[in-house]
Amino acid sequence: MFLVLKFGGTSVGTPQRIKDLVKLTANGTPKIVVLSAMSGTTNALVEICNALYQRNTEEAAHLTEKLRTNYKQVISELFSKKESLEKAQELVLNHFNYILAFTLDMFTANEEKAILAQGELLSTALFHYYLEESGIDSVLLPALNFMRIDKNEEPDLPYIRKYIHEELVLNSGKNLFITQGYICRNSFGEIDNLKRGGSDYSASIIGAAIKSPEIQIWTDIDGMHNNDPRIVSNTHPVSELSFDEAAELAYFGAKILHPTCILPAQKENIPVRLKNTMQPEAPGTLIANVSSEEGVKAVAAKDGITAINIKSDRMLLAHGFLRAVFEIFERFKTPIDMITTSEVAISLTVDNPKHLTLIIDELKDIAQVEIDENQTIICVVGNLPKHQSGFASKVMDALRNIPLRMVSYGGSPNNISVLVNSSLKKEALLALNKGLFNKN
Ligand code: ADP
Ligand code: ASP
Ligand code: MG
Repeated sequence: MFLVLKFGGTSVGTPQRIKDLVKLTANGTPKIVVLSAMSGTTNALVEICNALYQRNTEEAAHLTEKLRTNYKQVISELFSKKESLEKAQELVLNHFNYILAFTLDMFTANEEKAILAQGELLSTALFHYYLEESGIDSVLLPALNFMRIDKNEEPDLPYIRKYIHEELVLNSGKNLFITQGYICRNSFGEIDNLKRGGSDYSASIIGAAIKSPEIQIWTDIDGMHNNDPRIVSNTHPVSELSFDEAAELAYFGAKILHPTCILPAQKENIPVRLKNTMQPEAPGTLIANVSSEEGVKAVAAKDGITAINIKSDRMLLAHGFLRAVFEIFERFKTPIDMITTSEVAISLTVDNPKHLTLIIDELKDIAQVEIDENQTIICVVGNLPKHQSGFASKVMDALRNIPLRMVSYGGSPNNISVLVNSSLKKEALLALNKGLFNKN
């Protein structure tokens, strides 16, 4: 049975970090190691694509050259043997020539995805070459041979299961596999990806496909913290979370996990462990099918939310109004995150403004519509059983000085969500740290 270990951008961010991965991966236990691109690479590739979209080929070539120079430095520090260095030089040359070739041609979303895939292809090949130079046997598994999304952009699990097994059988007897996170093919067979931060999702999908005993997400922090450590300084790691709690936190802004990465693991009941590459002895966070202690565990925040207020006189005692509203969102494939209703109005939120103008136009045919942009969902997560009193009052009390645009409670026993103007997010997170965790 293979464990699945995913290492994020900072965990492969320097030559030394790549070298340090050997102790964590090459220790006999059978593993599939999923790597992100080196930190900064995907952002740099996005910049190159933006320049190409603007037909600024000179800028694109300049940015590509800059990134190539970084990689030249990386390989010169990573490899000490001449043959490995030469192999790595050729690899870097090939990948960057591939990127540069796009400056000569039309640029569309397909070319963009092909460029964005280069970061993971580079990091995995470099780690594989480094293992080879160190005399450690490993197999480089091309994710593009098995990782695939269907026409709804959902992982195509039967396909993934079939083709990853084929790859493993082809290499039977081997016990260290390296593969790319984030990248995949779509239903047309073109190169695609699982969206930014998607390497966590890759690891969870692979874990589910091979029914791994455990999925480990190795990153730059010692587990899921009780509050956003980028905003609040006094936070602590949470030792255990249920799948549902972790999924809510990931979906509502805890950047340590890709929003949907818990679901594949949860479906197969595979524990997910969050670990710190820089501090491997720290216990981290275990996410599993646990019935954890009652109470609030953590808080997360998701920005970029638009609230839509839909008011109709006809809603009073009318049935079918909610359906009419939801159908409009469904037609534009726009998910709704939060919803509250009164007898005459609905407030709901969306995080994807792509079709907002069209949605609002259609809503206006059946109701009066108002929108509030720049909103943030603050999500308080834990084990909050409905027969217990006091959770909501604690949250409301902590937030007593902050105007709340929406409040949602009771949808699941795992969360209380409120919507605030994004300018009040920091204040809200600090107030909750004090009110719920007694920390300043
Ligand atoms: P990786 O590149 O390894 O995938 P990410 O940057 O995606 O790493 O995720 C780790 C980061 O997530 C941490 O450095 C931390 O700043 C941020 N983060 C946000 N919310 C949380 C949280 N609740 N607990 C832990 N980390 C969090
Ligand atoms: N490299 C990709 C990104 O930066 C995927 C990942 O790191 O998870 O978004
Ligand atoms: Mg990440």
